[in-house]
Amino acid sequence: MKTFILFGPPGAGKGTHAGAITQKYNLRHISTGELLRAEIAAGTKLGIEAKKLMDAGSLVPDSVVEGMIESAYDTVKGVEGFLLDGFPRTIRQAQDLDAILQKRGAKVDGVISLMISDDTIRKRISGRALAEGRADDADPEVIENRIRTYHSQTEPLIGYYKAQGKYHEIDLNEGSIEVNRAKVLSLVAGLG
Ligand code: ADP
Repeated sequence: MKTFILFGPPGAGKGTHAGAITQKYNLRHISTGELLRAEIAAGTKLGIEAKKLMDAGSLVPDSVVEGMIESAYDTVKGVEGFLLDGFPRTIRQAQDLDAILQKRGAKVDGVISLMISDDTIRKRISGRALAEGRADDADPEVIENRIRTYHSQTEPLIGYYKAQGKYHEIDLNEGSIEVNRAKVLSLVAGLG
C-alpha cells in the first residue's frame, strides 16, 4: 500500500486536483475536511463538535482525524494506496501518521505540495465561497485565522518531509486548472 500526501495551504487546489491523481494511480482519496463535513451533514456528535472549530478556522483534535485515517486504512480495499488530503496538518499528526503506517507495514511514499501565496489563498477562498457554500470560506476573519493556523502549525511539515527527502513542491499561483493539473500529474509521475 502506497501513501502519498497532497499538501498545501487552504485554497491551493488539493480537492481540485486529487481526482486526477487517484484515477491515474488507483488510489483512494481521503480528505479529512470532506470526512468532517460529511459528519456535520449527518448530524453526528463528532460533527457537531467539529463544526464549532471548523467554523472558527481552528483545527479539530488530532484523535478525531487520526481515527478517520485509521479506519480508512483498515476498511478500504481494492486500491493501490491512499492520497491523503488535509492530513497531516501538524508535526504531531505527521509523527502519529508514521506510527499508524508503520503498524501496517507502510510508510509515507511522497509529499506532493501545491504552493500558493497568502494573497492567492485569499482570492481562491473568497472565489469559491459562493460556489461551495462553506461557512469557513465566507468570513474574511476565519480565512485569516486559517492562514495563521497554516503558517504556525502546518508549514513546519515542509521541513519534516524535506529532511526525509520526500517533499516535492510546485507553484500553483498562476495558470488555469487544466495547465495546473498537467503540472501536478507530471510531478506525481516522477515519484515512481
Ligand atoms: P482547506 O484546505 O480549505 O483548509 P479542508 O477541507 O482541508 O479545507 O479543512 C477544513 C477544516 O477542517 C479545517 O479548517 C479544520 O478545521 C478541519 N480539518 C481538516 N483536516 C484537519 C486535520 N488534519 N487536523 C485538524 N483539523 C482538520
